[in-house]
Amino acid sequence: MRLDILIRGGTLLTETGPVRCDIGIRREKIAAAARGLKAPEAKVVDASGCFVLPGGVDAHTHLDMPFAGTTTADDFATGSLAAVCGGTTTIIDFATQDKGRPMMAALEAWRRKADGRCVADYGFHMAVVDLGGGRLKEMDRIAREGCPSFKFYMAYPGRLMLDDGAIFRAMLRCRENGSVVCVHAENGGIIDALIEKALAQGRTHPRWHALTRPAQAEAEAAHRAIALAELSGAALYVVHVSTSEAAAEIRRARERGLRVFGETCPQYLYLSDNAYESPGFEGAKFVIAPPLRPAGHQRALWSAVREDWLQVVSTDHCSFNFKAGRGASKQMGRGDFSRIPGGSPGIETRVALMWDAVERGDLSPARFVQLVCANPAKMFGLYPRKGCLAPGSDADIVVLVPSVKRVLSAKTHHMNVDYSPYEGRVVRGAVRDVLIRGRFALTGFKPVGNPPRGVFLERRGPCEW
Ligand code: MN
Repeated sequence: MRLDILIRGGTLLTETGPVRCDIGIRREKIAAAARGLKAPEAKVVDASGCFVLPGGVDAHTHLDMPFAGTTTADDFATGSLAAVCGGTTTIIDFATQDKGRPMMAALEAWRRKADGRCVADYGFHMAVVDLGGGRLKEMDRIAREGCPSFKFYMAYPGRLMLDDGAIFRAMLRCRENGSVVCVHAENGGIIDALIEKALAQGRTHPRWHALTRPAQAEAEAAHRAIALAELSGAALYVVHVSTSEAAAEIRRARERGLRVFGETCPQYLYLSDNAYESPGFEGAKFVIAPPLRPAGHQRALWSAVREDWLQVVSTDHCSFNFKAGRGASKQMGRGDFSRIPGGSPGIETRVALMWDAVERGDLSPARFVQLVCANPAKMFGLYPRKGCLAPGSDADIVVLVPSVKRVLSAKTHHMNVDYSPYEGRVVRGAVRDVLIRGRFALTGFKPVGNPPRGVFLERRGPCEW
């Protein structure tokens, strides 16, 4: 068999565990996966002593997202390059509908933002914020355009939130057209009332961001979303689960046999609400929604990802600078925590932080591949093209050197943002080489001079697994 590239001598990480295996690439695809492959004409990548894994799939990003007349710090060029440097080769970003405007306009706008700039391959979810004027049927078109996953906000009343009736109608539509329902599960009414009360009492410090978004507001919304999804028959995916209570709601739903799935993010596994007590205004760096939680939740979330109450680890990457000067910054919320742009960077550090859990013995290599690569691809209709290294899969490949220690820092990261939530944290393991559809994007720990360009991925409904 003629091969273009041969990745030789590495240990392949699969969903069932590590296995010694060479990988042969022809054009954009995996052509062979076996021990002792020979191809004298191929370019050889020596992976001895390394792990070879499917390119990571990050199913929750916000790149080039509009905010208060400006945008997030990372656009599709900078954010996707950072993703690739960190071992992620596929992203699914959120196109957000404008009120009073067709969903198709948002999809076209997001496709223009990414086209020719995104290094990783990319797809889109549609965040639906307005179902007035007979817009329900627009969802069928969006699904047919290759984006069969819709996100609904149960928080941010008056801005992004839909009421239960609208969400339920949309869920029925998703059931009809085979799409996945994604929800931001926080009770927006409770939260807005608590914010109002805190501000009236003169509470402005970033810590009040967390204190006005209690765990119960997430658990209640997750429970309600599950009830609505059960009645509608649609598949439900709860994004960024941050509490033990919400994870337990998902576990119970799954034990009852419902098609309910959940995602968490490294920030909820690694960081806690004591970050809001950082000196000065630095707590603003950690203003995300849901907020960081008391440390006790972390233990439950690690169990949840290990024991399949939660199926996916994504990032919710949404970067804003801490210092003022370039675009929207966290400084906009000095004097009022509710005006701090919500979001934090993480697209580059997800694989590293999850791999570090493997090095620590907190996660099996098989479960790591499921959470970071295979399950997000299955959930969002990309498997086995993505998230898998079998003959016929796209040649999206990460060569990872285990054990080596490195320090996460804004000084060395590739994200276009002036801080890292993990500044100074030491992790073990480093991404050495990355290929996207058979083309090198990273070699010898460094991005290539002229990185390949990603393509838009037309997705289908979820795979059964
Ligand atoms: Mn998000």
